[in-house]
Amino acid sequence: MGRDLLIKNAKVWPSARSPVIENGSVLVRDGRIAKVGKFIARADVVVDADGQLLMPGLIQGHVHLCQTIFRGAGEDLQLLPWLRQVIWPLEASHDEDSIRASALLSCAELIKSGTTAFLSIETVRHTEHAFRAVDETGLMGVIGHCLMDMTGGYAPLSVEIDDALAYIDVLQENWSEHDRLRVGVAPRFALSCSGKNLQKAADYAREHGLLLHTHSSEQVDEVELVREMTGKYNIDYLHSVGLSGHDVCLAHCVHTQQHERELMAGTETKVMHCPSANFKLASGIAAIPEYLKMGITVSLGADGTACNNRLDQFQEMREAGLMQKIRLGAEALPASDVVWMATEGGAKTLGWEKEMGTLEVGKRANMILVDQSTVHTIPSEDPATNVVYSNTAADVLMTIVNGKILYEDGKLTTIDEEKLRRDVFRERAKLMKKAGLA
Ligand SMILES: [Zn+2]
Repeated sequence: MGRDLLIKNAKVWPSARSPVIENGSVLVRDGRIAKVGKFIARADVVVDADGQLLMPGLIQGHVHLCQTIFRGAGEDLQLLPWLRQVIWPLEASHDEDSIRASALLSCAELIKSGTTAFLSIETVRHTEHAFRAVDETGLMGVIGHCLMDMTGGYAPLSVEIDDALAYIDVLQENWSEHDRLRVGVAPRFALSCSGKNLQKAADYAREHGLLLHTHSSEQVDEVELVREMTGKYNIDYLHSVGLSGHDVCLAHCVHTQQHERELMAGTETKVMHCPSANFKLASGIAAIPEYLKMGITVSLGADGTACNNRLDQFQEMREAGLMQKIRLGAEALPASDVVWMATEGGAKTLGWEKEMGTLEVGKRANMILVDQSTVHTIPSEDPATNVVYSNTAADVLMTIVNGKILYEDGKLTTIDEEKLRRDVFRERAKLMKKAGLA
């Protein structure tokens, strides 16, 4: 840090619902935005944006870095068999090297496709190595350590809650002062965690001021099993064990009752919408426009590449918009609302709304430059419809996080892509063999 950065001659789009500033500039000082608008300034590094769109960096509310190396394994299965037959055996086979390779692979894809910050759920071991890998890449994120103590006879991933929280204590010692990374507490979902596990996770997170991140109401079968087990609807049950509130982030929420929606709105519980994963695992279509109307904060996420198979927020934006048109009609969810979820909604979900989500003076310089001159984008001028429906991830020209350029001219600046490819193939082969899937 320390060197000033000026992006000039850009279509500056400060936030999802604001107009574009033509021929605009953004000045970055010490990693933060110092000036936005039409002005002339000097800086150590000057980037001429050549009239392309400079917008807030995309933020994903729900990903699993540890699953990226599972891409393409376990295709065409329903959620519960997919988890038990493929994902859990692979997660149980992870070691420090495979976690590192998977995290770096995730970061490479996220950076190239314009994601600048994320909220993740990792697995029950080796989360320290996910932190170390992400730290090297320059991305920002809240990395969740996964808690599970009820794995239906599948012992390798079952960890006693006190042992899991002791591990989070160590993560906190190592990372609580970090500038770009934070620790999250991530009980996987109601069916893989005992009531005691969920309650203790909630108490621990509150005591330490950490975000709680879990999955909820993704599929009908899951909701029915939770009702059999607890006599309650899923979100009612989570609420009864402390998992509701402004610090609770629920991925999916596809199958919810009206009273559960009111509970989420009333408690300021966050929803992370994952359209591709909901399509691919045949989960259904979440009532996102209704959630937004009720004032619930909704963000977008790719979920894991094992059920997507990309970490591409452009794809999630497009699908989020299209799927509601089928459900409610063409006016259901304007493109600017979709971009809001992919930026400001993400920032609020991560509890970082004062740090990111818009291009405003004082916030982190997390921003992306998106090509508006491609043949699949011209002649449309509206940035929201372009970003949601015309642009693709490959149109990201530059990704900047905390004032540092992490991607430009088709190259990652913090990740050695050739070495990454070798590491990923080696670690994938090792994992598949160990999990008995090769
Ligand atoms: Zn997930």
